[in-house]
Amino acid sequence: MSEERSLNFIEEIIEADLASGKHTQILTRFPPEPNGYLHIGHAKSICLNFGLAKKYGGETNLRFDDTNPVTEDTEYVESIKDDVQWLGFQWAKELYASDYFEQLYQFAVQLIAKGLAYVDDSTSEEIAAQKGTPTVSGVPNVYRSRSVEENLQLFADMRAGKFADGQKVLRAKIDLASPNMLLRDPIIYRIKHAHHHRTGDAWCIYPMYDFAHGQSDSIENITHSICTLEFIPHRPMYDWCIEQLGIYPSHQYEFARLNMTYTVMSKRKLLQLVNEGHVNGWDDPRMSTISGMRRRGFTPESLREFCDKIGVAKRENLIDFGLLEFCVREHLNKVAQRRMVVFDPLKIVITNYEGDGEDLPSENNPEDPNGGERMVPFTKELYIERDDFMEVAPKKYFRLAPGQSVRLKSAYIIQCNEVIKDEAGNITQLNCTYLPNSKSGNDTSGVVVKGTLHWVSAAHALPVEVRIYDRLFTEENVAAAEGDFKDYINKDSLKIIPQAFAEPFLAQATLSDRFQFIRKGYYCIDKESTPEKLVFNQTVNLKDTWSKVNK
Ligand code: ATP
Ligand code: MG
Repeated sequence: MSEERSLNFIEEIIEADLASGKHTQILTRFPPEPNGYLHIGHAKSICLNFGLAKKYGGETNLRFDDTNPVTEDTEYVESIKDDVQWLGFQWAKELYASDYFEQLYQFAVQLIAKGLAYVDDSTSEEIAAQKGTPTVSGVPNVYRSRSVEENLQLFADMRAGKFADGQKVLRAKIDLASPNMLLRDPIIYRIKHAHHHRTGDAWCIYPMYDFAHGQSDSIENITHSICTLEFIPHRPMYDWCIEQLGIYPSHQYEFARLNMTYTVMSKRKLLQLVNEGHVNGWDDPRMSTISGMRRRGFTPESLREFCDKIGVAKRENLIDFGLLEFCVREHLNKVAQRRMVVFDPLKIVITNYEGDGEDLPSENNPEDPNGGERMVPFTKELYIERDDFMEVAPKKYFRLAPGQSVRLKSAYIIQCNEVIKDEAGNITQLNCTYLPNSKSGNDTSGVVVKGTLHWVSAAHALPVEVRIYDRLFTEENVAAAEGDFKDYINKDSLKIIPQAFAEPFLAQATLSDRFQFIRKGYYCIDKESTPEKLVFNQTVNLKDTWSKVNK
């Protein structure tokens, strides 16, 4: 559970709006452009928009901001819906800005009729040049004084497909001297003869962001339209349209976007990573996408907790990736099933162990009183981790060494008596003895050992592949680093252990299971796993470096 925290500034606004009766119910929206997969920054926006509605008994629409036909695709629409639901949220309505194309067209006609919009034949270079600079006012061109009738006709002709791409645009007639460049007669419609993933070829003119987003909010009666800080200069245009069109007065509020260390968070950059093969798809476990994090084993609970912890800021900052890992670890510690897996096996033979072996109970999760137990086969020949043994051990080495004793997790205390080597001098086997009266849960040996090792019965060991991920970038602030962001890709971000040995119970693992491999980290099954060849992803390691530094 999250700690009690004070209201963020948007909550304060909403509470005031509800208290004053300005709104009786709030309606928010999450408005992704379906031009890529969602990333952790979007998760922040989702948690905020859906979280506010949930907290104050309101609703949230999922609106696809699909006004740019060239980059958008239904594959992205599906993945976005999937990610939002996975995060634990349900939208009131699934909507598409493209469904408003006719209405938006009519809004533009209204502006023209009021003398507030005109068709401009200038090239984009000419328009840019005529716009002036922040310190120098723009200059009107001849098209600015076109008559209402001519503009209505030309705009209808634009819609009818009589012009080529770029030949004409529709501009709002606002103020060429405005200190806000976005109010210097912004383009509100452009010609684009392109197939749209939903409207097909019905349209060859498309509204610009500033003429689609705010109006879509108004059409839906969105009360609080929340976006990131870079949209502050767009707010005057947002309000201008509402005022001139006399439509529902939605209001835009801005908060600081989430930036995170060692990662990039722009769909354009993420798409490059995918297309150029730096990662294996949008859901590569190293990606900052929600689908990547899902595949890696991050839980919706931990992502929500992370978004809550970072809060809602008014100023940009850079959040430590370690904080997200901390949240993941905290949640997984509570829910993950403990299992034993040996990554780099060293065989041990318990020379005084008689019989075929036995099944020993082992706790699934010491953090969960209802976690239950599973049986783990114990036999005469076992594997332990090669680096849990040292032939010449320093003082305070509590793992296995010649003459030294350790406990095998959920099993017995063993002592190492003999080190077997091959001709090259490599250690191939350890001969040990066990204390029959030292069984975990029923230990009457009186022997005290300081180390406990994980292990797997050699005869039962299940070969599995393990994939271990590191940060995708070597640079903390990738976006601010000089040069191409791809220069900072971490070449060692994926380490594959082709054959680790797992306890047999793991054969039953499913995609939704979460595991802690004891003394190793948190793991989950990868989607490429098959019953013949199990593949596990490391979700996060056990070591918590973040909280040590920050608590
Ligand atoms: P990108 O630049 O990564 O492509 P975007 O802002 O273009 O992101 P949209 O699909 O337009 O992506 O965004 C949908 C919503 O998510 C918007 O309201 C946007 O403000 C929000 N959002 C996007 N990135 C972040 C972020 N890093 N932190 C918080 N909110 C974000
Ligand atoms: Mg965008």
